[in-house]
Amino acid sequence: MSQASLGPGGARRLLKRLRDLMAGGGTGQERLNQTVRIIAADMVAEVCSIYMMRPGEVLELFATQGLKQEAVHKTRLAVGEGLIGDIAAHARPLALADAQSNPNFAYKPETGEEIFHSLMGVPILRGGRVLGVLAVQNRSFREYDEEEIEALQTIAMVLAELAASDSLFGPPEVALETVALLPERLEGLKLNEGLAMGRVVMHQPRVTIRQMVAEDPVRERGRLEAAVERMHSAIDALLARADLGHAGEHREILETYRMFAEDRGWLGRIGEAINAGLTAEAAVQRVQDDTRARMQQVSDPYLRERLSDLEDLGNRLLRHLTGDRTAAQAGALPDDVVLVARSMGPAELLDYDRRRLRAIVLEEGSPTAHVAIVARALGIPMVGRVKDIQARAAPDERIIVDGENAIVVLRPSEEVREAFQAAIRARAARQAKYVALRDLPAVSRDGVQAELMINAGLLIDLDHLAPTGAVGIGLYRTEIPFMVRSAFPDVASQVDFYREIYTRAGDAPVVFRTLDVGGDKRLPYLEMADDENPAMGWRAIRIALDRPMMLRQQVRALLLASAGRPLDVMFPMIADVAEFAAARALVDRELDRLAARGLARPAAVRVGTMLEVPSLVWQLPALLERADFVSVGSNDLMQFLFACDRGSTRLAGRYDVLSPAALCFLAGIADAAAARGVPLTLCGEMAGRPLEALALLALGFRRLSMAPNSVGPVKDMLRSADIGAVAAYLRSLLHLPDRSLRGRLAAFARDRSIAL
Ligand code: PEP
Ligand code: MG
Repeated sequence: MSQASLGPGGARRLLKRLRDLMAGGGTGQERLNQTVRIIAADMVAEVCSIYMMRPGEVLELFATQGLKQEAVHKTRLAVGEGLIGDIAAHARPLALADAQSNPNFAYKPETGEEIFHSLMGVPILRGGRVLGVLAVQNRSFREYDEEEIEALQTIAMVLAELAASDSLFGPPEVALETVALLPERLEGLKLNEGLAMGRVVMHQPRVTIRQMVAEDPVRERGRLEAAVERMHSAIDALLARADLGHAGEHREILETYRMFAEDRGWLGRIGEAINAGLTAEAAVQRVQDDTRARMQQVSDPYLRERLSDLEDLGNRLLRHLTGDRTAAQAGALPDDVVLVARSMGPAELLDYDRRRLRAIVLEEGSPTAHVAIVARALGIPMVGRVKDIQARAAPDERIIVDGENAIVVLRPSEEVREAFQAAIRARAARQAKYVALRDLPAVSRDGVQAELMINAGLLIDLDHLAPTGAVGIGLYRTEIPFMVRSAFPDVASQVDFYREIYTRAGDAPVVFRTLDVGGDKRLPYLEMADDENPAMGWRAIRIALDRPMMLRQQVRALLLASAGRPLDVMFPMIADVAEFAAARALVDRELDRLAARGLARPAAVRVGTMLEVPSLVWQLPALLERADFVSVGSNDLMQFLFACDRGSTRLAGRYDVLSPAALCFLAGIADAAAARGVPLTLCGEMAGRPLEALALLALGFRRLSMAPNSVGPVKDMLRSADIGAVAAYLRSLLHLPDRSLRGRLAAFARDRSIAL
């Protein structure tokens, strides 16, 4: 039937007619009525209807050709109700030859739709939000094809733009968004810690697309190509920037990003939308809307992040086409910028002047998103998943961002601002005190000496070594460079990376942990099982022993990089001694290989293990005979000990690492290691909390590895404590039936003026 009318030329003609219609006069309703008439005729459909979203997530029939006119502004469906509601709820098209037999079909008698059997509907999307639904219906059991769905989506997108610019219906018909002027406290997800107060700057004032429909696809393709060219040069310029020169992961991230910019599939889809009659910018927008809609469906974190990188690129490309600028490019920013955005790419963040940037608040975002990794590296507080922040905040409003507690306060009252200022000052004073402690020894009042080290996962973390006064890197999580790449890094590039770590660490020791991937840390190039319970699934050493080449190459790279220096390497998630022996044998093989090739050996090779799986504790004597050191990963160890997901907010606080059970367990480990003289570290989160660290020191732990900003508070605590006295007290409590010893220990510490 409509192949001729729906082909690229046909779609173009239809879009042109719509444009002419909008340019003409008439009321909003008249224009809408004509719109549905034109679409119905062009799509050879008996019905064409537009449903728009009303407050309260209700879809209202705004105009129809073919259904009863009495139903207009009367028929309403909740999001999720009926087929129209289903399209809105999932933001995806639906095409059914026999719509009425679909279980989701909701019959609305006032519309007279019972005589129409087939239905094709698409969401009217703008900025990732569903504004409404555009649907056509036919009497026959018509099979709509892909091309027809595409054509309807293109029309829906044009409608979305027109609706947003009020050219589709007059403003009175659209519910205006109300802006609450009272203070609002919103919760989100912690992406980076830190406190900040500033003024809202909308990262991306929406790009305004002035023209949607184009006559000349060849010219539009030319414009697209020129803009892609300009975008490539801009990304290359970013890559060449001197201040990113040594930041390895930033480079990796930007390289990956450039790869997306060259993605043929993405550019191809934009080209197709141009062929269908859109301007280059409208075509980019069209593909963006698709991406966003897909993003909402995707739960896989890796895919979501890649899609958000694509979105970042799309935004860049749009700006190259329209000449619109982001807040960063527009300049004239306040001195205390708090960026608000739906999502943001790593490159976009780097566009901003860091001296003005106080914090970032996103509607989306996840801890492993590239932008979050970059924000952490730059020390910018960041809260993600703040619902509707873009709609709730207005430019230049005051805003408070509390990264520790993942809270954002919009339009804070004066009292709140003052209280917050006081909190920021107190934090700054504490920081100053910790800086002063930097060169003082980590020794308690009774002479117990401890080694305080930091955990790192990014090259930039190594810059914290000197300012914190930490004596080394107790845990280097090696997985990030593997996660930002699109293919497994070869030995040579791994060697470069580990060398860079050694160079930056100077003389300080570094304990490398081999790849701990799996679970939600997915590698794009490694097929992983969809375990029901990923934390207990195919991850870490389990993958490494099943795919030994990965571990061998990593160990090879570590050996080569550490030539002449000592190498400390440990394995994650070892559950029994046999696993440790197998992993260790792999290191020995690589050492033999090194010798056979006459290559330089490290000054020493110490092979240790993480202790994260409780079963290993019952093999401690055998383990301690074979391992050169042990590092307790209390995050995992405790989650498995208590059978309590470490990420569950609901369970957080139910079991305590300062319970008699956990402390007895840890005491057993400390005693066994001390008896055999094997170095023991604890590198989970608890090492960085002063009260927990006090308990660990009292149990005999002497090496603690923690987040860099915990070193000051823990050292302050240690220097004010008499560890012998705490040890005697704590050991005397271990037999108690209490849920937790936290209260007693804290009171004991307070009474003795231990700094907590
Ligand atoms: C741990 O489990 O305590 C640990 C340090 O490893 P990660 O947090 O990387 O799982
Ligand atoms: Mg762990």
